[in-house]
Amino acid sequence: MIKVHQGKEIIAVIGAGTMGAGIAQVVASGGHAAIIYDEQAEAFERAMGSISSNLNKRVERGRLTDADRDSTLSRISRAVSLADVAAAQIVVEAIAEDLDAKQELFCALQKICPPETIFATNTSSLSVTELASVLIDPARVVGLHFFNPAPAMKLVEVVSGRATSPEIARYLGHLASGWGKHCVHTKSTPGFIVNRVARPFYAEALRLLQEQVVGPATLDAIMRECGGFKMGPLELMDLIGHDINYAVTNSVYNACYQDSRFKPSLIQKELIDAGYLGRKSGRGFYDYSAAVKAEAAQQIGPQK
Ligand code: NAD
Repeated sequence: MIKVHQGKEIIAVIGAGTMGAGIAQVVASGGHAAIIYDEQAEAFERAMGSISSNLNKRVERGRLTDADRDSTLSRISRAVSLADVAAAQIVVEAIAEDLDAKQELFCALQKICPPETIFATNTSSLSVTELASVLIDPARVVGLHFFNPAPAMKLVEVVSGRATSPEIARYLGHLASGWGKHCVHTKSTPGFIVNRVARPFYAEALRLLQEQVVGPATLDAIMRECGGFKMGPLELMDLIGHDINYAVTNSVYNACYQDSRFKPSLIQKELIDAGYLGRKSGRGFYDYSAAVKAEAAQQIGPQK
């Protein structure tokens, strides 16, 4: 049974990368205390730098007051060890897109957290049913799939596995609606809704590149300016991160019994082998090194 919380729930976010930082910003902006844990010590500082910079931009645009920015930041704290997340009523994991790693994490959390703590996963593609199957109580596991960048993107997929408690799915959908998100409830199926539809968008672009039909900039410009997409497929993959996107591609491909529509591309593998992970590493299809340097300089500079 779900505990009824008198105040706002404490929410732990595990993994302080691209998505974890954004999710922590969303929940802290929603008035919750957010506890961030990442196995890499420096990830917390990076996440706080990105959250501060996002909030500062909102202040500059007149969408947030200085006081609201400061109180949002004050609600975010770092968990030095995984055990520190035991205080949370909801844990949202946003670690690598790897079934074994996520199952191992949930098994560790199961030993640390009270039995009523809800375990949410931000997986883009992995089976929530399979993820939850290793736990004593799989009903407590639900997918809470935010999109990138989490603070800006309105959609959240609430994903129910075979054993997920419908009450928990409804409860999280309700919470996320309170954060200003549009929630769609979906079953755990490969890629859920959005990633199932989006996969061929990336795959076909990669095929065109492989066949040397067109270069990245032209391809993206066509889709943006003529196709009406906000971002072209290649710049979007750079935003997602190629390591994550390749893992999602493989996951959906294998879960769909190697349906060729979802086949991964050697281009993706080559980018990863080169360490060209996209914006987060400063290079993907495009070179972001200047933007990375400028952002780092801004974070070192005086904080407002
Ligand atoms: P990322 O690589 O940017 O960050 C992952 C973070 O998790 C890293 O900081 C890493 O140190 C940490 N980590 C890894 N294993 C850990 C562990 N066992 N314990 C604690 N910390 C650990 O990844 P991301 O892009 O933020 O993706 C995270 C999840 O969100 C994935 O499941 C991904 O599929 C999903 N997702 C990603 C996007 C996207 O556009 N990048 C969008 C929606 C969902």
